[in-house]
Amino acid sequence: MRILSIDIGGTKFSAALFEDGRMIRRESRATDREGGPEWMLRQIESMVSGWGPFDRCGIGFGGPVDFATQRVALSTHVAGWGDFPVAERVAALFHVPITIDNDANTGALGEALHGAGRGFLPLFYMTLSTGIGGGIVSADGSVWRGADSWAGEIGHLTVRPDGPVCLCGARGCLERMCCGLWLERDYGKPARDLLADPEFVQRYVVDLALGLKAAIMLLNPARIVIGGGIAKTGEALFAPLRAELRRQVTDWSRARLDVVPAALGDDSVLWGAFALARPVSSIR
Ligand SMILES: [Zn+2]
Repeated sequence: MRILSIDIGGTKFSAALFEDGRMIRRESRATDREGGPEWMLRQIESMVSGWGPFDRCGIGFGGPVDFATQRVALSTHVAGWGDFPVAERVAALFHVPITIDNDANTGALGEALHGAGRGFLPLFYMTLSTGIGGGIVSADGSVWRGADSWAGEIGHLTVRPDGPVCLCGARGCLERMCCGLWLERDYGKPARDLLADPEFVQRYVVDLALGLKAAIMLLNPARIVIGGGIAKTGEALFAPLRAELRRQVTDWSRARLDVVPAALGDDSVLWGAFALARPVSSIR
């Protein structure tokens, strides 16, 4: 079986072709933020035009997706996607079954079944980059989406009730305090430069751990996997983060604190969209 996997993000978009469970082709291009969905569909069509036939297609989208209706719920970072019927339109292009979910859920599935989460279910996955997203994979290997597809939105947990206003309209969200977009706006430097300073990291991990503590208390995951650009900081971030979590989650709780970086790098979403598109009987 050949499966096409697509990752639609605010800064770049990628596609990969999987055959018999292996990635045999992959390409990535920059997103034109002004282009909107019509531009993106034309780009995807031309990118994969020479790739030969495929049987199914999975899509990870960089924004909220209503899984039940397979439509984009709203677009906070890119214009023109609100209520756009992506699955319907891509199906009309390729004439194969399409499944779409947001990129945090898709990344979670990718890491759970093919990356750092293998053998560690239930899993909590957090993407830490321009924004912050989260995904929950249950013990049976399926994504837990909640009643309205809004489960796992760790980026909008309140960590500083009197903090600055987030893009969602609330104050002091984890995303407002810790994501790449706001770090750069607040401190005038890219996250990568800020996190090169160990003293900055010491302060940064306090809010980050407050968010993760909530996930640990609610879900008691077997492992937490963190992906996205900021997670590429590596042990200089993860060692202080684990220490801070150990401090915040007191010995009263016997929940394990197993926090590791994503193993699939920039391909977590592509692997997850591949897993999402597979027929249910062939999962795991
Ligand atoms: Zn928010």
